[in-house]
Amino acid sequence: MLEVSNIQSRYGQVTALHDISIEVRAGEVVALLGVNGAGKSTTLKTISGLLHPTRGEIRFEGERIDRMAPEAIVRRGIAHVPEGRHVFPGLTVRENLIMGTSNRKVSRAETERDIEGILEIFPDLKRLYAQMGWSLSGGQQQMLAIGRGLMAKPRLLMLDEPSLGLAPVIVKQVFATIARINAEGMTVLLVEQNVNLSLKVAHRAYLLETGRIVRADTSEALRADEGFRAAMLGAG
Ligand code: ATP
Repeated sequence: MLEVSNIQSRYGQVTALHDISIEVRAGEVVALLGVNGAGKSTTLKTISGLLHPTRGEIRFEGERIDRMAPEAIVRRGIAHVPEGRHVFPGLTVRENLIMGTSNRKVSRAETERDIEGILEIFPDLKRLYAQMGWSLSGGQQQMLAIGRGLMAKPRLLMLDEPSLGLAPVIVKQVFATIARINAEGMTVLLVEQNVNLSLKVAHRAYLLETGRIVRADTSEALRADEGFRAAMLGAG
């Protein structure tokens, strides 16, 4: 579904990604792991068109997308839920969800149906439906940000550190939600610091270090690898 081949990405003179190749197949959850600054967020930004790679290419369902604008990439079916949630504070939960449809033309009836579907996945949001974004807790904002991403009806959902700054019980809920969305057919590319939970939900994972992939394996193999686990947990 997604093939990232040998990409290099830079911020001005700083090369953040040296040579990244990853593949995501339809139906998978794939995790990008690594310490702060390894290049995980930059990889997602390059896929979603916020940055253009200076080398390499990216294909989504066979089509080259690495020179496209972010809007064109969302329209092709890739939604990016950035780190830090970015819920619109002055809009209600409902209005925030509707903002997620801005990439496509939808009838009112279809929007209402899609919102119903999202509220089924996130029952908490139903209760908070008319509340303003700013009044939500961190966990509720994260659910809303994911819900808004789903409103774009993507075929690939990219989540950047969805568990960041959340209480452990809420983190578990976020991961359970990712598993559920995937079980219903969504393909997910996940950036995370929480290695243990990521390896439970993901089928495969890539480990990034200073802009390079240093390991790629199934979650099962990585979970069974004591050295890997010790190194990752030691790193944070
Ligand atoms: P984090 O979890 O902290 O976001 P990350 O693995 O996602 O870590 P990136 O944010 O992709 O890492 O950062 C990769 C490298 O690019 C780092 O060296 C970082 O300092 C640099 N970088 C990130 N954003 C910018 C920017 N806007 N301008 C210049 N350099 C940047």
